[in-house]
Amino acid sequence: MYPLLRINLEKLRHNAQIIVELCRKRNIKVVGVTKVFCAIPKVAEELVKAGVDMLGDSRIKNLKKLQHIPVPKMLLRIPMESEVEEVVKYADISLNSEISTIKNLSEEAIRQGKVHDIILMIDLGDLREGVLKEDALLVAEEILKLKGVRLRGVGTNLTCYGSVIPTPDILEELIEVKEAIEKKFGQKLDIVSGGNSSSLYLVQNGLIPRGINQLRIGEAIVLGRETAFGDRIPHTYDDVFTLEAQIVELKEKPSYPRGILGMDAFGEKQVYVDRGIMKRAILAIGRQDVNIGDLIPMDSCVELIGSSSDHLIVNVTNCDYPYKVGDVVKFKLRYGGILSCSTSEYVGKVIEEA
Ligand SMILES: *Cc1c(COP(=O)(O)O)cnc(C)c1O
Repeated sequence: MYPLLRINLEKLRHNAQIIVELCRKRNIKVVGVTKVFCAIPKVAEELVKAGVDMLGDSRIKNLKKLQHIPVPKMLLRIPMESEVEEVVKYADISLNSEISTIKNLSEEAIRQGKVHDIILMIDLGDLREGVLKEDALLVAEEILKLKGVRLRGVGTNLTCYGSVIPTPDILEELIEVKEAIEKKFGQKLDIVSGGNSSSLYLVQNGLIPRGINQLRIGEAIVLGRETAFGDRIPHTYDDVFTLEAQIVELKEKPSYPRGILGMDAFGEKQVYVDRGIMKRAILAIGRQDVNIGDLIPMDSCVELIGSSSDHLIVNVTNCDYPYKVGDVVKFKLRYGGILSCSTSEYVGKVIEEA
């Protein structure tokens, strides 16, 4: 049954290997980020085969599925107070910015007879998670007093909210925070987690400061592109994930609606252009599954026209191939498309083994 999300494990492993190798040359370990594909275990296993050091996900529900894989699991989103018990159970290490939550983690870890590792997140200007630089020493001091948790290092996240591009200067600040903590408390920290796929261009150009020794990478592995500038990473695939949807109607119709125009199904006023008669195909997939802006037709003659909850309209007028009802149209996906197709229970998943 369609729609189908195809996942090519060989291509995924290839991409991951290229990035792990790129980072290894600069003494950087890779946390393979699994959230974009909902941590499907077989897919995550491929990242480990490619040599990632840890697996990371923003959701405990996803990390729970990866317990059989023998690498440390990192929780990427700041833990909720309501999930502290599961965080200690299913994650070996978590990114944190709230001392009250870290205290809860400490108590829970003692209860479970475990030691939970903490990365203290520092906000270097992107304005999502992290303590401000000037508060880092105070918070670190509090963490170091706690039992059941171990401060392993510092980290930062950039580009996700504030679109701030990581630069050598900004990442040097992270290393300075780490060194200040080490100096003040006489305690070595072994991880400096310098961001996500937007930090990779610094690795590629040899500009990543010495001292950054971990990156948390999702998009660059699944799509083969760095995310500071959106450039492709040489020798990687951009079609690890592809989507297939089936044609349920194919007719020649006008391109301009007839009648008085109000709002579409999503309450938006649309602008239509009269381009005469078109050969229009309706595909059985819709906004419940994927946003039209995240689709890239693999057959370049296919043009995206519009979509509603369960229907996607494409123009196939210019195609040499005589598309008909029952045919399948294939797409590459942008990041949001991989994410939404992975979470949609209406999209089947096919894992192509190497
Ligand atoms: C999602 C996420 C990442 C991975 O980001 P990519 O851009 O996909 O590489 C890294 N760190 C944190 C905290 C995240 O939430």
